[in-house]
Amino acid sequence: MAGAAGTLSLLAELHARIGAEGPLTVAQYMEVALFHPRLGYYAARDPLGARGDFVTAPEISQVFGELIGLCCADYWRRIGAPDPVLLVELGPGRGTMLRDALRAARVAPGFCAAARLHLVERSPALRAAQERALAAPSPAWHDDIDTVPPGPMLLVANEFLDALPVRQFMRHAGAWRERRVGLDAGGGLSFVLDEAPAAIALPEAPEGAVREVCEGADHLARAIAARLLAAGGAALFVDYGYFPEAFGDTLQAVRRHRRHDVLTAPGEADLTAHVDFAAFAAAAAAAGARAWGPVPQGEFLAALGIEARAQKLIAGADPNQAMLVRSGCRRLVDPAEMGTLFKALALTPPGAPAPAGFA
Ligand code: SAH
Repeated sequence: MAGAAGTLSLLAELHARIGAEGPLTVAQYMEVALFHPRLGYYAARDPLGARGDFVTAPEISQVFGELIGLCCADYWRRIGAPDPVLLVELGPGRGTMLRDALRAARVAPGFCAAARLHLVERSPALRAAQERALAAPSPAWHDDIDTVPPGPMLLVANEFLDALPVRQFMRHAGAWRERRVGLDAGGGLSFVLDEAPAAIALPEAPEGAVREVCEGADHLARAIAARLLAAGGAALFVDYGYFPEAFGDTLQAVRRHRRHDVLTAPGEADLTAHVDFAAFAAAAAAAGARAWGPVPQGEFLAALGIEARAQKLIAGADPNQAMLVRSGCRRLVDPAEMGTLFKALALTPPGAPAPAGFA
């Protein structure tokens, strides 16, 4: 099981660990597959773009980041233009969204000068890409939100929550049991189910139903709510997921723009789960914040003025660029593409105004 450079493969490491500790929870498996320091999916690669594994909204069209930037600047003004204001992004990828956002937000006097950039990013490869994209505003990087300084904050996150590890539970013989990743007879990985019922309170469901629980999202919702209550601001999440709560196994692996088996070649494919927006909103509300939405991405971008923004770009573009603007925007809003599966959710302190797009 030697890898290309003579190093052990992640599969071999998982094998040894499961042999020693027993089957891993699905969340532990996701954590290792995505963030193992040497062999994890995010350790050494930039997975984004046509030549990578997947494409995200800011990489599809500059209009996405521009509208998010205008939305932030507008909200900043409506809450009294705090200076300084923390502009926080979770999982900025290549830094494209924030770069486009800051360029568009120059129309709001004072906003860019007031903004202090804080990027929450664990991937060294993507931190380097962000540094290239965002050189001028000199951001600070963090491994998680806990080290971001206190203060009024505008937080944005696109396709971040889907990367947070989920635990999975399956209804079997009248009880919920945790689903884990173990070893099969041939030395590969396979799903196994705990014999003992799980010590977790979940609603009744038919035999065979799967329920996902994202403890990382819960923790994050509470941490953000506490910051918003203490110092004001807003947080905006855009991601694919479901609302209301639902049962189902949504764990998926994607490699080179195609679905991939989730237990094959760990570390080589992106692993995500759909976001449970109701659970996320409930965790934030339990910590005192107000949740807005979720609103389908197509409706959200329409409310922010995607049509007018696209027309403005098209007016100054050559025919080829104009076609790219049109097709990119269509992909973002079309219900058959990203318009419905992707959703926007915002958090604010109670009593604060609605962010644009959530009226
Ligand atoms: N927002 C970007 C990238 C999305 S990919 C875009 O829309 O293009 C997910 C991003 O989140 C990557 O930058 C990844 O490295 C980062 N990420 C995933 N899980 C993380 C975690 N637990 N902590 C910090 N960053 C994380």
